[in-house]
Amino acid sequence: MLVCPNCNGKDIGKIGAQQFYCWNCFIELSVFHDKLEIHQVESDGSLSSLDDLFTEDERKIQW
Ligand SMILES: [Zn+2]
Repeated sequence: MLVCPNCNGKDIGKIGAQQFYCWNCFIELSVFHDKLEIHQVESDGSLSSLDDLFTEDERKIQW
């Protein structure tokens, strides 16, 4: 089970082959090379990266 690195929630929806969405904090999680890439969806639909806010450890996938 994927855990959101931002809120530690498990309310994660699958939106694509390697893409997930946290319904709790409304961020998009992409799996890339066993790491999570975290994006916030802006009101205009564009994505801004939140990767800088997390450490390598926090971005490690914990299934
Ligand atoms: Zn979350």
